[in-house]
Amino acid sequence: MTNANDNSATEFDALVVGAGFAGMYMLYRLREQGMRVRVVEAGGSVGGTWYWNRYPGARVDTETMFYSYQFSSELQQEWEWTERYPSQQELHAYAKHVADRFELWPDIQFDSPVEKARWSEEDQTWTVTTGDGTQMTARYCIMATGCLSSVNTPKFKGLENFSGPVHHTARWPDGGVDFTGQRVAVIGTGSSGVQSIPVIAEQAAELTVFQRTANYVIPAHNRSLDPAEVAEIKANYPELRAKASASFSGNYFPVGGPSAVAASEEERNREYESRWQTGGLAFMAAYADFMTSEEANETASEFIRNKIRGIVKDPATAELLAPKQLFMCKRLCVGTDYYETYNRENVTLVDVSETVIDEILPEGVRVGEAVYEVDAIVLATGFDAMTGALKRIDIRGVEDASLRDLWEDAPRAYLGLAISKFPNMFIITGPGSPSVLTNMIPSIEQHVDWITDCLAHMRKQGVSRIEPDAEAQEQWVAHVNEIADLSMRATCSSWYLGSNIEGKPRVFMPYIGGFPAYVRKCDEIAAAGYTGFSFR
Ligand code: NAP
Repeated sequence: MTNANDNSATEFDALVVGAGFAGMYMLYRLREQGMRVRVVEAGGSVGGTWYWNRYPGARVDTETMFYSYQFSSELQQEWEWTERYPSQQELHAYAKHVADRFELWPDIQFDSPVEKARWSEEDQTWTVTTGDGTQMTARYCIMATGCLSSVNTPKFKGLENFSGPVHHTARWPDGGVDFTGQRVAVIGTGSSGVQSIPVIAEQAAELTVFQRTANYVIPAHNRSLDPAEVAEIKANYPELRAKASASFSGNYFPVGGPSAVAASEEERNREYESRWQTGGLAFMAAYADFMTSEEANETASEFIRNKIRGIVKDPATAELLAPKQLFMCKRLCVGTDYYETYNRENVTLVDVSETVIDEILPEGVRVGEAVYEVDAIVLATGFDAMTGALKRIDIRGVEDASLRDLWEDAPRAYLGLAISKFPNMFIITGPGSPSVLTNMIPSIEQHVDWITDCLAHMRKQGVSRIEPDAEAQEQWVAHVNEIADLSMRATCSSWYLGSNIEGKPRVFMPYIGGFPAYVRKCDEIAAAGYTGFSFR
């Protein structure tokens, strides 16, 4: 095995952009093939999402015995998770352990944001340029840039004039922030807001939450993992992982029933109550028709609204917190004491759905006539999802084709894996793949394995240039759109559709046909000699 353990080296077989879970595993698999690889990472350590999102209360909301790598049985057996939903710190420690265990560190270059990537038809190589002007070339370029990594900071008028600190949840200072005795504003009530609000409320003197859209929040019921339960899972890991892979979201969520409408009210409430008590994202699998029947959807919505009304003591606040949009329209949130937090005396909820945040003044936040004076602002305002991280890089393919320009109206990628006019470039969990609708780590592993097999196939065939055909790509994009239109999810406002970003075209970006159907399609394409791709 060769590695790129030479900081002055600039020529490689493959460049990987990003050292999150995708980039780390890609490095491992490419090195296994004897490739010289350099991973180029903007952050200061491995872990991607779990390096950047250090906000108070940050923890994964997928059960971690399954939100973890499965490529190495030894790793899977030896690592000890402590909680059902571990904290960012524990997830980052896991990422570092993986980098230690598989000696990934020497091939990763940190603090190096990639700004440009250019294909040369003449040399048949990619040249990647980082923020300090360093250039590296390689035959292959793999974008492991993440689906939720490009931070969205809304252009609030006057934000730069605020007299105190402003922290985005996804760019939280290393070492944390002490809000003791302070008046804090949190803007945003998606997953990051839902997790951070209860923790900040415990520390701050006063917390004002600015909510534009109320979200559905299912209790996490986080807890320490019981050693007997862990041993049982570890003893049956292959079987349990296979079950998860065979399920729609790559998570093993047993489906309660085919139709919420067909079930009696009593049955339904029993099912919802049991899932509420168990906690977590499995609530979504209570019935199979939430996204095809408004009536079914409303039963789950109303159950959760009633829970909120039961928890939050002030009826006006409870009504504000009760979501109005379809259940599962936006990504479901999982929280700890989220609704209970609004019973605290030091917490105020401000509705900015109709009267929006007009401006940030040096002393606070102005909404219409009201000024909320605060000492610090937390932006829990999310990401330019799925396309943001790629469009941020000036990527040029054949004949200087610009990815930004080609994706101006909508992202287009074959299987969400590769893009016509961008030879020898692969994207991990790109738009048009199930990605964010699934458990991310199994999805990442499936993409990395597919890319690795494809490169091995190329070597065997004696070819070194691969590019998806424009026609195959168009057909895939049409299929992705067609099935998205069958779901009510495509009718909503959410980051899945880009509607959280001003001016971003509304396109449902992930593949909604489910993990098993997608994997089958990828496998069929590979087995048939990579149909839809041209090799040279
Ligand atoms: P998000 O879901 O996009 O939430 C952003 C919030 O900011 C929304 O409430 C949004 O309101 C609000 N907002 C944005 N611009 C605003 C403006 N100009 N004025 C007022 N409010 C504004 O982002 P996120 O919470 O960071 O979560 C993103 C995704 O990351 C999640 O859906 C999840 O997939 C992932 N995530 C996972 C975890 C986990 O595993 N535990 C934790 C955090 C995040 P609108 O809804 O009205 O747009």
